[in-house]
Amino acid sequence: MSDVFEQLVGQDRAVDSMRQHVASPVHAYLFSGPGGSSVRDSLVAFAAALQCPRHGCGACEICRLVFSEQDPDVYFAERSGVAWRMEEIREAERVARRRPLGAGYQIVVIEDVELTTTGASPSSPALLKSLEEPPTRTIFLLSAEEVPRELDTIVSRCVEVKLRALSEEDLASILVREGAALDTARSAAQAANGNLRRARVLVRDVDLATRVARWRSVPERLTGTLATSAIVAQEITASLDEAITPLQELQDEEMARRASDAREMGMRAVANRRDVEAQFKREQRRFRLDELRFGFSALTSVYRDRLIENLDASAGGDARSEYRVGASLRAIDAVAEANRRLSTNVDESLLLHDLMFTLMEF
Ligand SMILES: [Zn+2]
Repeated sequence: MSDVFEQLVGQDRAVDSMRQHVASPVHAYLFSGPGGSSVRDSLVAFAAALQCPRHGCGACEICRLVFSEQDPDVYFAERSGVAWRMEEIREAERVARRRPLGAGYQIVVIEDVELTTTGASPSSPALLKSLEEPPTRTIFLLSAEEVPRELDTIVSRCVEVKLRALSEEDLASILVREGAALDTARSAAQAANGNLRRARVLVRDVDLATRVARWRSVPERLTGTLATSAIVAQEITASLDEAITPLQELQDEEMARRASDAREMGMRAVANRRDVEAQFKREQRRFRLDELRFGFSALTSVYRDRLIENLDASAGGDARSEYRVGASLRAIDAVAEANRRLSTNVDESLLLHDLMFTLMEF
């Protein structure tokens, strides 16, 4: 890699702004952008550029330390629940007061800052307080998928770095550069919904095409007795378990790389192994959700095709086509409703059984 920013494909504006800031940074940055738009990649690249004496050469020991999250002066705040807890933000503030060990900065990374406004006792006031008058050699790197109004005061204390959603072409070109064959890269990019991490997992997924076909075959299989809907729901659950495998492999490789980096640097073990494992678990849950959403969109497209197929004939007064148009519309609604329920804390298996049962009618 010739420069830490070079890997950030499709983010030229954000990269320009980061390059401008590297030499004389302010004390807080807020990275925002839709899920998987390389927010984390950008944030880590910027941290490396801040620490590296050559502003992010990508080749030196310092750049490597930052990228493997082993630089003792780059602190990643760790969240244990669904919202940031007050004590977690206070711990980040405590670290922010530290003098850096190296010649660079004390960098404090707090991701998903929108989660400081939720929970029983929102921690955003504590975060705001830490952003006021930090020591001169401290830099906060915050990130958020979306920035709620409640964070306006926090935003006003940061320079914003806005990332944009990656297009299919962006994703495919990143995957090809990382060694994938063009065809594989294209189908993974298509199924990744703009999410880089998901694209990286899907590109190693040999069963992707089979899973897409399985989702698309659901409507025609939902006939016969009601027991069928339960069987189809169970099959989907099993296929979600399979879909996770490539992600687990990727995570295993990452952990092995961290362990070997740690050994090379004379440490006996990965410094924050438990945090990393917790983060992997969360990522698996998120991936499963994304996979379900992806399946739902495949389902929707089948019903949409049916709808379009029958529209003309139904306009001509054909009763059977008219019925099919209505049924397809209701099926699309049912899938959309299931998709909405995914954001609540609903039981996955229950949701799938309900949906398949409902779709039996259409
Ligand atoms: Zn460097």
